[in-house]
Amino acid sequence: MTQTTELKAIADALRQHDRFLVVTHENPDGDALGSLLAATLALRQLGKDAVMYLAGQTPLPREYAFMPLEGLLRESPADAAQRVLLAVDCAKEDRIGDEAARSRAPLVLNVDHHHDNTRFGDLNLIVADASSTGEVLRDVFAELGLELTPELAEPLYIALVTDTGRFQYANTTPKALRLAAELVEAGADIHAVFQEVYESVEFAKLKLLARALDRAEVLEGGRIVVSYLLRTDFADVGASEPYSEGIIDYLRAVEGAELAVLVREQLNVGAHAHKGSLRSSIDELDVSVIARRFGGGGHRQAAGFSTDLPLEEIVQQIREGFLAQRATARA
Ligand code: 5GP
Ligand code: MN
Repeated sequence: MTQTTELKAIADALRQHDRFLVVTHENPDGDALGSLLAATLALRQLGKDAVMYLAGQTPLPREYAFMPLEGLLRESPADAAQRVLLAVDCAKEDRIGDEAARSRAPLVLNVDHHHDNTRFGDLNLIVADASSTGEVLRDVFAELGLELTPELAEPLYIALVTDTGRFQYANTTPKALRLAAELVEAGADIHAVFQEVYESVEFAKLKLLARALDRAEVLEGGRIVVSYLLRTDFADVGASEPYSEGIIDYLRAVEGAELAVLVREQLNVGAHAHKGSLRSSIDELDVSVIARRFGGGGHRQAAGFSTDLPLEEIVQQIREGFLAQRATARA
């Protein structure tokens, strides 16, 4: 199927069915939550019965607390088997964080922008060159003839501004910038979003950042910048898990850094021992390839994984993965 055919097929399915369960990935970021909310509100605008569900117990990042996510379920609803599952921003079905979610659903729709999406849906709309899943959804909404109300525009803008690193990453295309203008015209309050998402940092987060910066080390003559956070760091400063989001951007910003790595011990019982985040600052390095060594994935520039391997082994593997690619790149 071409992308246009996929878009029409998804739009048809959204029109034809009446009850939906909208899900996104665990440890959600701005694109995940913005897409989750926008998709749900869009379905309701069409007169559908749509509920949002985020698996797991991890609290939402503080910076997204202002989003109108009332009614967000943290456990699968009893009537899940009667609801079409719409997954947004999930590259793999296991990212939903609920193993049964997919098999329970009568139909699975998968809307995403990860190039390594496994196409686990019955219908898939995967736009790898889209800046964000929010951008993909905007095209779905247009196909459905939906009105871009301020309530829809704002979560789409949150998706866009966060996944483009405030319109600075390489995925900031002319289309993404035009969409930003359209969303502002439609009523997204960009200053309010800025204050909530970027200027409401809890003090504990600042202290957690300080720990990560203090521990940072360089490898390969400065081409890799790596740091890690221990369970005790979170406890000492009073930080919860999502507080580590954004820390890696400081590591990537270092002069000469090609690869930034942040590994943290996970707090939840039952979760893998370590969560790794990888960022590339050069086109030649695809960090999703390195993340896949650990069963993870993501984008070329931003990827992640979780694993039970010990820290030294993780760092060693990452180093090998980095050198394998950089050797190829030079050959
Ligand atoms: P972060 O480092 O912010 O947690 O994740 C960056 C990107 O890597 C995410 O947008 C997502 O695409 C991907 N990612 C992070 N963790 C995982 C994981 O455990 N599995 C997979 N497949 N992708 C991940
Ligand atoms: Mn995304």
